[in-house]
Amino acid sequence: MAVNYAVLLLLVLYCLLCRADKFEATNFTVSGAEDAKIGTDVLSLPRLLGTEKAELPCAIVEGDPYGRFYVSNNCTVIVARPLDWSVQSEYLLKILVGGQEDPDHHVVRIRVNVRNVLGYPPVYNKKCETPVNPRGNLSGEFLFSLSLSVEVETTEGDVFFTEKIINKPFEKWDMDDLKVIITGNDNCEVRIAAGIRNLNDLSAAAEIWYGFYRGEDGTVTLSCHAETAFIQSELSIMLLDIREFHIHGNLPYLEQLEIPIPQVLEKLQHSLFIYFLSFNVPTNSRTHYTCKLPIQHRPLSFFKDKDHSVTRLNVRHVETLTMDLSRIGCAPDRYGLLCDQNCICKNGARCHGFNGACKCTDAWQGVACDIPKPGVSAATTPSDPSDIYISANVTVHCKVHHVKATTLSLRLPNGSEIVRKNSSRLDQILLNVQPTDNGPYMCKVWDTYGKVFNATVVLDMAKCPPNRKGEFCDETCDCLRGATCDWRSGCVCPAGWTGTRCQTTCPNGTYGERCREECRCRNGASCSPSDGRCTCAAGWYGWQCDVPCPQSRHGLRCQQVCTCKNNATCHNVDGTCTCVASWTGKNCDQVEEQEQPMRPEPLLEIFVPIGSVIILAACVGAILYRKRHLCGQVEADLAQTVRPGWLSRWGKTRRHLTLGPLVGMGMFGQVIQAKLKTPAGNITVAAKAVRRRDIQCYRNFYREAAILVAVHEDQHHDNLRSNIIQLLGFINEPTHKYILMEYASNGNLLRLLRQARRQVGPQSLPRHLRYAVHIARALQELQRLALTHRDVAARNVLITAHHVAKLADFGQARDVYTAVQYVPNDKHGIEQPAKPKDNVKNEVFPLNWTALESLETGEYTCQSDVWSFGVLLWEIVTMGQEPRYHGNDQPTCQQLARTLRRGIRLRRPPKCSVEMYDVMMSCWRESPPTRPGPDEVEMKLVHLRNAMITVRETTV
Ligand code: AMP
Repeated sequence: MAVNYAVLLLLVLYCLLCRADKFEATNFTVSGAEDAKIGTDVLSLPRLLGTEKAELPCAIVEGDPYGRFYVSNNCTVIVARPLDWSVQSEYLLKILVGGQEDPDHHVVRIRVNVRNVLGYPPVYNKKCETPVNPRGNLSGEFLFSLSLSVEVETTEGDVFFTEKIINKPFEKWDMDDLKVIITGNDNCEVRIAAGIRNLNDLSAAAEIWYGFYRGEDGTVTLSCHAETAFIQSELSIMLLDIREFHIHGNLPYLEQLEIPIPQVLEKLQHSLFIYFLSFNVPTNSRTHYTCKLPIQHRPLSFFKDKDHSVTRLNVRHVETLTMDLSRIGCAPDRYGLLCDQNCICKNGARCHGFNGACKCTDAWQGVACDIPKPGVSAATTPSDPSDIYISANVTVHCKVHHVKATTLSLRLPNGSEIVRKNSSRLDQILLNVQPTDNGPYMCKVWDTYGKVFNATVVLDMAKCPPNRKGEFCDETCDCLRGATCDWRSGCVCPAGWTGTRCQTTCPNGTYGERCREECRCRNGASCSPSDGRCTCAAGWYGWQCDVPCPQSRHGLRCQQVCTCKNNATCHNVDGTCTCVASWTGKNCDQVEEQEQPMRPEPLLEIFVPIGSVIILAACVGAILYRKRHLCGQVEADLAQTVRPGWLSRWGKTRRHLTLGPLVGMGMFGQVIQAKLKTPAGNITVAAKAVRRRDIQCYRNFYREAAILVAVHEDQHHDNLRSNIIQLLGFINEPTHKYILMEYASNGNLLRLLRQARRQVGPQSLPRHLRYAVHIARALQELQRLALTHRDVAARNVLITAHHVAKLADFGQARDVYTAVQYVPNDKHGIEQPAKPKDNVKNEVFPLNWTALESLETGEYTCQSDVWSFGVLLWEIVTMGQEPRYHGNDQPTCQQLARTLRRGIRLRRPPKCSVEMYDVMMSCWRESPPTRPGPDEVEMKLVHLRNAMITVRETTV
């Protein structure tokens, strides 16, 4: 007997050493890991019993009701179905060895202990559930699809864009050999180590390896970041030279992996480079990552395959790289990143596309949901609680599984009970459910052995029927864009949409869910309301469209080649050339001729003075002739535009005014410093009179009067806070007509800027920006009053003694409801909107301050004032330079409109910060509604100015 035991002990030892990986036998007790693969040997009875008869018939006669094991012909016990420690950790198998006829037949009892394995079985994590892809088997797609988009500047000065969707394995990928995939269980994390052997990929990896600076951990790392209202997710790709491992003996990243380093290296040992990819399974159906590359220190050279011909792409730098990770899902019976694993889930269980975990239905349990779960289940129809609402009809089901029920009962929240005898199912319909029906519904079953099982489902339906909202469900949602209707908050809009019914896109400058993100697109780029991606205007590229095309390229996506010669600079937007000295012509390829003083023809010399005199005489005659008509016209204008009774409220007499020196000349008016006698004493005022006694001047004069009265008689107007020049009164006598205004002793902003340029230089920008902030406030006041100024420019901004900027010269202003100025069209006898005349030059019409749409249609709005405000900013930054689009040539109105339509804008002045230029460019957006409002501009300027002051303070 002792000998037998010794033999057995030896056998057990033998089993420990040579048995299949997962099981080791002890003295009639074997223990094995729960993650043993199907087919793994548990034990060999002939060996255990010391018999040589391999063909002994054996059979399990007890202890394995659910067929976890089976015995092979040679009497070896093998794992037949997945084990699960949490369901059954011990099996007592009774095995009949030898057939009934065999006189030696006997029963062997074997205890199989199932060992718990950490991280097994995989967890079904609902958070990273992936869809089922019904066409997956045919299309051979991945669980995810990765869409890459990249913008690079080449060494030749081209900008190269490419977009690639990777949703299937490339043919050349030998994925099995080269990759190790480590997937987290409950944190939805994926980590992949992929070795490279393919020659092309090797050369690309080498370029990246040697072209970028390596981080402290010895890797070249690309980190990508996704940020939306609900998730923040990181994706990183690291490149590693495997030789580093051999040199240093450790790899920090590999150490973080949960599987031992040698295992990874063994798999990847024949690769020179390894890519490590890690990311979290996107919770959204699509996650958009923007990636940050390490610093590149030399150009990279890649082979690019196009139409079966290989070309080289020399990358000077990578400007943008984005990745979109979308969940595609595997075919119903597949899982894994490559959808190359077979699901084991049975009995209607759902298989997790990510790690193959099974989500069992109520009646089943175990790793593969193939072990019956005796008891009862409680459920409702509709099954999704979000579909249960007040007044709906709901059915509660009690269902008995794998037991013979003697009694089945359902207890309702009100305490009543429904009982069925010898029934395996009970369905209770609840009609027109009300909040009083809320609560637990408990199903209970007694089996034939008196054992009791129970299960509960809870009703909690404080919700309205579909498309209804409000406390009493009496409001309708009627959501658009596929939005869902929440009974409390109404329509829950998809990203990019807002409004009570999700009927409007995000307001300009915002994007994302609930429009909570701020767009960062610059230089007239449009911003996708759903994900904030920038679509650059001509001449720009990069993340935020803030990178001008390389020197030799221009236009949309920088795809046009510049034709400028002889060191000329090429405009990034339209490719126009700015020649260096002594060159001229469209392409700066013609030598400039020295200007010769022009000698007038002798005949002209004689006739020009005579001609001038005749023309002058004719003009004087015409003016004298029209003067009578003029006054009638003016009075008519006046009566219509100025509020009734205005004179009694604002009228002053000439006697009270003592005129002083002339302080300024405008286009239509002249301004005189004067003293006005008031009950409180004499005050210094600015008295504005018409410059010439012509219809145009009078029109402007009365318009200014009308607008200033409208501003000052508004109930919200506050003289102390307003940034609109203060009106003090009118003198409207037949020969003396004056608008009396507060006197701004520091004169106009343009003069101040030009003076400052000569004296203090551009470091005074924060001081002058303060004035811009004031004018943004003035525009807000005008916007509130639905007035347009139409000539916002530095020359029309006055600076008071207390250094407050005030908007003045309202001669062009109108209310927005009569925004289109109509003039008679002689030819057709009908009225046409007045447009700036095509040949009108800058001296008579502020073309270069005028918004694109105003140039084209003659229409002015508060947004067209914002455009002019952008030009005013430009004037401030350039310290009073004249805004010009075409060098010294002043284009006609139509030419300028065409230029602006092509996306050309005033250039960024030297030393103007990107952020500041960004504000200007936003004011010059082609579509008026997409321009910021004056309040938004004010906020941005205050922010910029504060930043400037802080920087200056910290650097001093
Ligand atoms: P305007 O016709 O309003 O453009 O005025 C012409 C010029 O007169 C301005 O550029 C200022 O230099 C000066 N001016 C106008 N209004 C005032 C004022 N209220 N106080 C001081 N100077 C003024």
